[in-house]
Amino acid sequence: MIPLFPTYPAGLIHPVKGEGSLLWDEKGNAYLDFTSGIGVLQLGHVPQEVKQKVAEQLDKLWHTSNLFVIEPQIQLAKKVAEISGMDLVFFANSGAEANEAAIKLARRYQQVIKKQARYQIITFEQSFHGRTLATLTATGQAKVKEGFQPLPEGFVSIPFGDIEKLKQTISAHTAAILLEVVQGEGGIHPADEKWLVEVEKLVRKHDLLLIIDEVQTGIGRTGKWFGFQHYPIQPDIITMAKGLGSGFPIGAMAAREKLKEGFSLGSHGSTFGGNFLATTAGLATIETIEKQNLLAHVVKMGSYLIEQLQQEIGDIPQLKEIRGKGLMIGIEWEIPVADLIQIAKDQGLLLLTAGPHVLRLLPPLNVSQEEIDQAVAILKRSIDQWLKNEKKRASERQTRSV
Ligand SMILES: *Cc1c(COP(=O)(O)O)cnc(C)c1O
Repeated sequence: MIPLFPTYPAGLIHPVKGEGSLLWDEKGNAYLDFTSGIGVLQLGHVPQEVKQKVAEQLDKLWHTSNLFVIEPQIQLAKKVAEISGMDLVFFANSGAEANEAAIKLARRYQQVIKKQARYQIITFEQSFHGRTLATLTATGQAKVKEGFQPLPEGFVSIPFGDIEKLKQTISAHTAAILLEVVQGEGGIHPADEKWLVEVEKLVRKHDLLLIIDEVQTGIGRTGKWFGFQHYPIQPDIITMAKGLGSGFPIGAMAAREKLKEGFSLGSHGSTFGGNFLATTAGLATIETIEKQNLLAHVVKMGSYLIEQLQQEIGDIPQLKEIRGKGLMIGIEWEIPVADLIQIAKDQGLLLLTAGPHVLRLLPPLNVSQEEIDQAVAILKRSIDQWLKNEKKRASERQTRSV
């Protein structure tokens, strides 16, 4: 028996080596990896540019704690500020921790700086914000909360895209609104622009804070550095993690100057957050995306992938919708997609779900057009097989019932 908690399903494959968009298992079989470690590997597996920088840092210094000057952390903070338009950065180790920091900052800003009894965070149904107690409470999905009561107070989730409900929910206790501009785990749902503009207006009118969770959408995934940059809005706080470190655990929260004293000396902290290795990996990741002009590539490959999907599978009756932004793409079906993931794996393509009915594609940002063509061809074959199996099963069910 393996002494691990059974929190995850059985491993899809047993990978031993990776390079770019490819993974190899212990038997030497190759797979096209369109999961990217759940949107983490912006540059694919083992990117040489990041490896080089981390290897140099490995020889010098790994960790000191935040009681010391950490040069790569300062460099990465400047870079994150530059690409996000934010002013101040706090480093954590994961998306949940980055969101924890955002929630704490929003409350502390309202209570200590603005001297208001505001604590409530409004979030949205089908959102995902993490697995710590506060962030699973913020998450708008019942399944992550089951059995963890009592949950922290001061969170409410309302329907995504419903402006009237939001107006009714804002009260004298509301501190902030927290949202993903493209809901990731919840099924790849891009926010409606008109709605988002109205959300920001309400935020300003009621003196709230707008927090955008960019943990999945950030670091180029949607074709801009951050998903919010597709919309005419200006958040007060953003969070990021997944794509920031090329697989090295790192998270960050960035905010506007006015929030500075919200996180005054000693008010928050992290032992590992922003250490030499993690911030070196983060800086090298962003610099490589810049050098290789990958944002433009994401826009191009994202439209190409959607086009190819429309062309090859767009007419299948069980298909509901193909949607997304950049290289964050969801394909929604009338029927659950779990079996399709297994079939595609057997044909050499690794895919994710986002809820039971949505197939999720998150290839690395530097995926090539040839790799997209290969993936679409494998996916098409896999879907044929999947629907054939479904049909057979349906007719067997029918035979049994007569
Ligand atoms: C994955 C994810 C998180 C949680 O990140 P962890 O690093 O797993 O804690 C939070 N928000 C969004 C939008 C995510 O996709």
